[in-house]
Amino acid sequence: MSARKRILLFAGKLGYQTRSLDEAASKLGVDVVFVTDRCHQLDDPWGDRAIAVHFESPDAAAYEVLTAVRGGQQIDGILAFGDRPAVAAAYVARGLSLPYNHPAAVEACRSKLRMREVFRDAGLRGPWFRSVALQPAPEPSLLGISYPCVLKPLSLSASQGVLRANTREEFVAAAEKIRRLLASPEILARREANLDQIIVEGYIPGREVAVEGLLTDGELRVLAIFDKPDPLEGPYFEETIYVTPSRLSHTDRSAIERCALDAVRAVGLTQGPVHAEFRLNDQGVWPLEVAPRSIGGLCGRALRFVDSQGGDSIHLEELLLRHALNLPGSDSPREPMSSGVMMIPVPRSGILEAVDGEDEALAVAGISELQITARLHDYLAAWPEGSSYLGFLFARAKTPEAAEASLRLAHAKIRFTITQRLTVEHPATRKMVGQPD
Ligand code: ADP
Repeated sequence: MSARKRILLFAGKLGYQTRSLDEAASKLGVDVVFVTDRCHQLDDPWGDRAIAVHFESPDAAAYEVLTAVRGGQQIDGILAFGDRPAVAAAYVARGLSLPYNHPAAVEACRSKLRMREVFRDAGLRGPWFRSVALQPAPEPSLLGISYPCVLKPLSLSASQGVLRANTREEFVAAAEKIRRLLASPEILARREANLDQIIVEGYIPGREVAVEGLLTDGELRVLAIFDKPDPLEGPYFEETIYVTPSRLSHTDRSAIERCALDAVRAVGLTQGPVHAEFRLNDQGVWPLEVAPRSIGGLCGRALRFVDSQGGDSIHLEELLLRHALNLPGSDSPREPMSSGVMMIPVPRSGILEAVDGEDEALAVAGISELQITARLHDYLAAWPEGSSYLGFLFARAKTPEAAEASLRLAHAKIRFTITQRLTVEHPATRKMVGQPD
């Protein structure tokens, strides 16, 4: 029997994270068995190493995986990229007696309503909240809604469909907007649960931070606190800039770390990566949400860790791989440089026709990387309907201020040409055509 360690990786999409993990696995001499629900769309991307499942039925997915690995080589660890894959991973971990989060804890993170209930029951600070059915159209004055409030789908992510309302009229319009979004073919195809209701909660004023952490048997190590320097006051909440280390005071950072631990303990997460969001104001720290996964997509590239053996810096995915397999080095500290990432927002919905100024952006001092991830000639939806970005800009500098300034300067140099999509209705056909603004 080979002495190579073997990890099961649950991932909903092929992309930077899976590639980066694959590279780390080769570097460390580790085997990866991918579990994905995208095999049918791809041309056997991982050769015979991928196990195909449906993540929306996590117990059935677990059965498939357990059947596939039974009698084969031993599995030594489990890792999941994304919220949906994490649920199936939790069921499989139990079947294989591997340390991971309990399925109930991971399931709780899939519903914003359940999470609010869990936080409330654990005595954590939180706004008023209630679930609201979308049909028939809700009448806020009959529901005891006060303003400002925030309306959110229960299980989408990346702020998709999250809307602030300051008045009854805004509430009614926001609820209708979300109803249409949740009934769209794109969302229905994801087969999410509870598309007929939303959560409405009190608006929490204040600054916002994101926390990236790593849990080991319930002990939380905070890898980074990211400031979000742009005001996120609505009506939509698309993210833009994340910068670490945080410029908040030591006292505020300690309070955030304590709240992060309280939040993961309340939900019951114990093992592996966590990503959490908080608001901070005069009253203290308010958890928005915690997730049993690392920061999404390319953003993880903003984090690099120092290899104590003097090798190249360690990427987040390599750190997570080492952690999941109990290999040395998962306690490596983050590098001393300040680091920032800008998720380049889609300024308005339409078809991306051209991107110019990339070289000028890359020439800005401190900019380490620019990745345009949107494809030319594809339709892009802006917030609140959208959930993807034009691309990602990365900066590294001596101070967080300098990293942020580089991102803003570089962003101003990129020009995106986006044209409107016209929907042409015809009795027999329905087609989209691009037309300049
Ligand atoms: P998602 O998982 O889709 O990102 P969140 O619940 O984290 O959903 O909400 C997305 C963003 O909306 C948050 O990062 C925050 O900026 C804003 N937001 C959500 N709830 C509130 C609230 N109660 N008060 C103020 N802002 C909020």
